[in-house]
Amino acid sequence: MAISIPSRQLFIDGEWKVPLLNNRFPIINPATEDIIGHIPAATKEDVDLAVDAAKRAFSHNKGKDWSSAPGSVRARYLRAIASKITEKKDELGKLEAIDCGKPLDEALADLDDVIGCFNYYAELAEGLDAKQNAPVSLPMETFKSYVLKEPIGVVALITPWNYPLLMATWKVAPALAAGCTAILKPSELASVTCLELAEICREVGLPPGVLNIVTGLGNEAGAPLSSHPDVDKISFTGSSATGSRIMTAAAQLTKPVSLELGGKSPIIVFEDVDLDKTAEWTIFGCFFTNGQICSATSRLIVHESIATEFVNRLVQWAKNIKISDPFEEGCRLGPIVSEGQYKKVLNCISTAKSEGATILIGGSRPEHLKKGYFVEPTIITDVTTSMQIWREEVFGPVLCVKTFSTEEEAIELANDTHYGLGSAVMSKDLERCERISKVRLILDYHKNCKTKGFYVN
Ligand code: NAD
Repeated sequence: MAISIPSRQLFIDGEWKVPLLNNRFPIINPATEDIIGHIPAATKEDVDLAVDAAKRAFSHNKGKDWSSAPGSVRARYLRAIASKITEKKDELGKLEAIDCGKPLDEALADLDDVIGCFNYYAELAEGLDAKQNAPVSLPMETFKSYVLKEPIGVVALITPWNYPLLMATWKVAPALAAGCTAILKPSELASVTCLELAEICREVGLPPGVLNIVTGLGNEAGAPLSSHPDVDKISFTGSSATGSRIMTAAAQLTKPVSLELGGKSPIIVFEDVDLDKTAEWTIFGCFFTNGQICSATSRLIVHESIATEFVNRLVQWAKNIKISDPFEEGCRLGPIVSEGQYKKVLNCISTAKSEGATILIGGSRPEHLKKGYFVEPTIITDVTTSMQIWREEVFGPVLCVKTFSTEEEAIELANDTHYGLGSAVMSKDLERCERISKVRLILDYHKNCKTKGFYVN
C-alpha cells in the first residue's frame, strides 16, 4: 500500500524548526524493512529551545498565558484537537500501522481512544473552574482556607513506541487540561503520528509553546530533557532501565517523576474454568499488539490437572492467528517494531532453549514472510523460575508456562517477580478471585503497581 509519510521538523514554539545540527534518522517500515521517510533528530540545544518556549507559554504573559487561562478555554483547544483527529482518523491510522507495525484495525481503534481521551480531559478542564477556591472549614474562624488547583509548570513527557499517539495523548491531554505546558519526546522507533499531532496543534491555533514536540534519540533528546533545570515534572512511560536513569536524573534536581514501566505479568488459570473461553483470554492477554504491551500476561500459571488439555487449546489458537502485513485483511499479528527488538525477542527464545525449555510452537520467523521483523506466536514449556524467559520482560509474542497444584503455590509463583503492573486470575470461584486479587494488591503496592484484574469464567 502506498502511503506517503509527511516530512516534518521539530515542533517548537508553534513552528516547525529544523534541528540545529540538521540531523535526521530513517523511518523503517517494520513489515518490509524499507526506509519510508526521515525523522528530525533533536539534540540538547533544540531541547533547550523547546523548554524555553514552554516556560514562556506557561506564565510569561500574566493573564494571557496558558496556566491562568480558564479551564473552559483550554477545553476548547482540546476539543478542537479531538475533532481534527476525528477528521484525519483514517490517514493517522495508516501512518501508525506503517510506522509501528500494528494491524490497521488496532491502529484505528487506538485513534478512537485518542479522540476519547482528548474529549475526556476537555470535560475535566471545564469542570476545573467550578472547583477552584472551594472553602475548607477550619476549627478556628480567624483563618480562612480554600483549595486552589494549580498546574505544576513545564512538564517533560517521554513515551514509548507500542501505542505511539495513544501513550502521548495519555500524557499531553491531562497536562494541557491542567494548565501545564509541555515538551513531548516520542520514541525514536515510532514518532510519525506524534509529529502529525504537532501539525494538528498548528491547525487549531494552539498558542505557541504550549505543546512542543521534539523527536530524537533517547540519549540525545530524552536525556537533556529529563535533566533540564527548567522542567518542573517528568512523566515517563517506557522500560524499567530507562525509568531508573530518568529517576536518577530527576533526583539530582529533586524533581517529581511519574514512571510507567515494564512488566512480566502472570495469569493464573484454575481447574474450574471454561477451557475455550479462558484460552481465548490467555491468547489475547499475551499476543495482542504482538505481546508489545507493558501489562501483557506473558507468564501462564495453570493448574496441573488441566495443563495438558489447556496448553493444547492454546497451541490450536496460536496456529490460527493470522500473521501478516498490518494492512492485510484479517491481520492479527504484525511485525515487531524494529530490527533491534526483533533480534532481542529471538534471542530471548534461543536463550530459553539453551537453558532447557521446550518451544512448543513458534520460536522463529514465519515461513511465508521472507522480509520484515515477524516472529511467530510462541509458547514455551518446561520452564524453571530461574530462567530468563520466566523472569524478564520479552515484549514480544512469547508465552511461557508453569503448572501449580495449590492456590498458595500459584500465588507464590505469580509474585516471584521484580516487576509489578498487571495480573489476572481465571476461575469460576468469585471468592477465590477476590482473595487472590487482594494478596497481589498488597505485594504490588511497592512495585509500581498499575492494574490488577481478575476474570470469572
Ligand atoms: P525505552 O525505555 O527504550 O524508551 C522509552 C522512551 O525513553 C523513548 O522515547 C526513548 O527515546 C526515551 N529514552 C531512552 N533513553 C533515555 C534517557 N536516558 N533519558 C530520557 N529518555 C530516554 O522503552 P521502549 O522500548 O520505547 O518501550 C518499551 C518499554 O515500555 C517496555 O518495557 C514496556 O513494558 C514499557 N511500557 C510501559 C507501559 C506502562 O504503562 N507501564 C506502557 C507502554 C510501554
